[in-house]
Amino acid sequence: MTKKLYHENVYLKEFTADILSILEKEGKYHVILDQSAFYPEGGGQPHDQGWIEDSEVEYVYEENHQIYHVVNIPPEKLIHAKCKIDWKRRFDHMQQHLGQHILSSAFDKLFDAATVGFHLGTEYITIDITLGNITKQQIEKAEYLSNQVIWNNLHVKQLYPDPETLKALPLRKQPKVTENIRIVEIDQVDYSPCGGTHPSQTGEVGIIKIRRWEKIRDTTRIEFVCGNRALKDYTWKNDQINTLSNLFSVKDQDTQIAVEKMYSENQTMKKDLKSMHDQLMVYEAKALYDQAEVSKTVRIIHRVFEQRDFGELRQLAAKIVSNPNVVVLFGTKDNEKAQIVLSRSSEININMNELFKEISPLINGKGGGNPQTAQGGGNEVSNLGSSLLAAQNIIMKRYLA
Ligand SMILES: [Zn+2]
Repeated sequence: MTKKLYHENVYLKEFTADILSILEKEGKYHVILDQSAFYPEGGGQPHDQGWIEDSEVEYVYEENHQIYHVVNIPPEKLIHAKCKIDWKRRFDHMQQHLGQHILSSAFDKLFDAATVGFHLGTEYITIDITLGNITKQQIEKAEYLSNQVIWNNLHVKQLYPDPETLKALPLRKQPKVTENIRIVEIDQVDYSPCGGTHPSQTGEVGIIKIRRWEKIRDTTRIEFVCGNRALKDYTWKNDQINTLSNLFSVKDQDTQIAVEKMYSENQTMKKDLKSMHDQLMVYEAKALYDQAEVSKTVRIIHRVFEQRDFGELRQLAAKIVSNPNVVVLFGTKDNEKAQIVLSRSSEININMNELFKEISPLINGKGGGNPQTAQGGGNEVSNLGSSLLAAQNIIMKRYLA
């Protein structure tokens, strides 16, 4: 049974220990010490990292009351080995973990909402609470109360109560273990069974900031950050707001108004542009119609465009064939593909789909349509002009001769 130094003194960063055994498993070495300040993964809190002599500890876990320290190279010194934990990592976990106790306690006290899930990730921390619908006001209330608990700098104690005392404690949740029950008390404010590591004063959490929340079935997942993570979160957000406020030449408080104004102007411009575009197309359709060759009362409009938007070209064709007695043979090309649309007025008896099938092999094309309109594209770009010419010839010979 490894002596858990992190429960005796949570601030212990360096210690010496004797190595009791080293087990080799899949190329890694699992080291057992007589005592350890390394926190093993558990209760939602990630494991510590650090060093045993020169061996880097990359993973720590507990099994049958033994703590295993996983290293790549086994330490050589077995007696009085110098051990050191990565304090920056551990202190971050302590800040986030105690922050979680405080926030869970706030939701419990204010709204009678229990915490049923906890995840301490590398960037954010989440808790799942038993409230399906939560308002912004409730979030702000819980956040405010939590920060009050932090700024009152309350004492955090570890209790190992006997069964009698345990029964009398107002526990926020029931313990998962049946022996050696450890209760973390935030100075008469919150009692919660927990085996993790926490600072001894709430003030060390610094600040709690809720980032966002989402409803998941009957619960709400609250994402938040504490201490240094909250500072980092503030830093990038502040940078982003400053950049945007400089870009818009407004005060930082007015950035959102400036962005919303630009967005709405952009929407209006898009609408205006579309309406101008539509008007322009009316003129273009009329010009093409007027310039068309007339053969036996049918106007044939045959035109190759460069890099024209195909949707727009189809729209143009549709506009023209809404006039009587007109056939449209349009193509557009870029470096990689040629696209064709063949269309006619409703009363003309030419099957455009069949026509398309006849000429499309010239551009190595795929596509189709109905007797009135057919379209498609292919990669033989250089044949676009000749394929439309072929279509025109077929119409002249077969239908208009
Ligand atoms: Zn805890």
